Amino acid sequence: MTDSIKTDKVWQQDKNHFIHPYTDFSTFHEEGSQVITKAKGNFVSDSQGNTFLDGIAGLWCVNIGHGREDMADAIHKQITQMQYFNPFGHSTNAPASELAAEIAKRTPGDLNHVFFTSGGSVSNDSAFRIIHYYNNLRDKTTKKKIISRDSAYHGSTYFAANLTGIQATKSSFDSLGDELISYVSAADMYRRPIGAEQLTEDEYACFLANELENHILRLGADNVAAFILEPVMGAGGVLVAPKGYHKKCADICRKYDVLVVADEVVTAFGRLGQWFSSEAIFDFVPDVLITAKGINSGYIPLGATIISADIYRVISQPQCEGGVFSMGFTYSGHATACAAALKNFEILEQESLFDNVNKLGPYLQQTARETLLTNSIVGDVRGTGFMLAIDLVSNKQTKERLYQAQRVFEKCLEKGLIIRPVGNIIVISPPLTLTRDNIDSLISKLKEAIDEVS
Ligand code: PLP
Repeated sequence: MTDSIKTDKVWQQDKNHFIHPYTDFSTFHEEGSQVITKAKGNFVSDSQGNTFLDGIAGLWCVNIGHGREDMADAIHKQITQMQYFNPFGHSTNAPASELAAEIAKRTPGDLNHVFFTSGGSVSNDSAFRIIHYYNNLRDKTTKKKIISRDSAYHGSTYFAANLTGIQATKSSFDSLGDELISYVSAADMYRRPIGAEQLTEDEYACFLANELENHILRLGADNVAAFILEPVMGAGGVLVAPKGYHKKCADICRKYDVLVVADEVVTAFGRLGQWFSSEAIFDFVPDVLITAKGINSGYIPLGATIISADIYRVISQPQCEGGVFSMGFTYSGHATACAAALKNFEILEQESLFDNVNKLGPYLQQTARETLLTNSIVGDVRGTGFMLAIDLVSNKQTKERLYQAQRVFEKCLEKGLIIRPVGNIIVISPPLTLTRDNIDSLISKLKEAIDEVS
């Protein structure tokens, strides 16, 4: 059943007033937007009455599935009891305190202190304000520089956009310049840097770690504050690093008193079958851990910057008279967003959703590889857990990128599937509630779409 009157109204308002994120304005207004009107479980529907399997969990975030009554009840309960009051100074609220404690129970190492924000970008910005503050307080005032990686995605606020290494996101925007933020190679197994093409996995991990070490030495260790990495690079193309890479890099950072920041905005809360992936899967303990998205499955905006006991000890030193830790947002520790996260944790556990990822993740990856790699424009199929990417190429030998993911996306829509096109990459990051049947349907629709484009 269509809902055309409302759709026309939405299109009109959309065209006149709504600036869409990451959108080519020159084309989309003529086409009219797709108005998503309903979302339930692993599916969403639009105003034209079409239903789609959600292959991207909203945007890497709706881990427990859409439209849940139990989440609505928890959110309703918190709103009617005490929806929001600021937790600045000595006031607090029970959901924020309880959520901080529940996070601390699950984080690696002594990452026990949680600063709440409203999303991933803001959590990254907050991390670097805290890190610079921490270094200032311990008289390491020259330690300012931050090392990120090519193809990294860390967000869209001014600072997080500069941490981001995806060149296409920069174009005509201004940058802070490489004096403050510089980049080392992405840990890309498929397109390796010159000199690393023939290396074994272990040698390649060493090669990348050496590059990081040389970079730190070139900048001067006394000037380097931190190295930031996504445990699995997401928007940059679901790049899974060679085994041993994370630990090698973390060890080098320790050697030079460079903090390790793990951006787990995507890789936490079960997307890879664990609460957090850094220690549980990749064998390193960061000093700062960034998260958002799956923290409450995207039901209400929420993010977190989680810091180690050592950083907390330093930044919680007594201030000069009248001074305070001068950071915080209106929505730091928003009671309703935190209550939604607590309910989300309960659902993730009660429904054994991590087990589902651990069981079906390998099936998703294997089925995708077996079904799609034979196509002439599919250069690589890679991923882990419930993160998957299909890399489109015009030539399998040269690995030249084929920027046709948008066309595949359009074909998938016709077949009732939503994927995420990023240049030449098709990204899949479904809800953790995905079933085996859903996977079969997803891969067969995707195969048909790619076949039609190739
Ligand atoms: N970091 C990573 C790894 C992300 O994938 C994203 C968003 O996709 C962000 C940070 C930014 O998060 P947000 O869009 O909530 O600001």
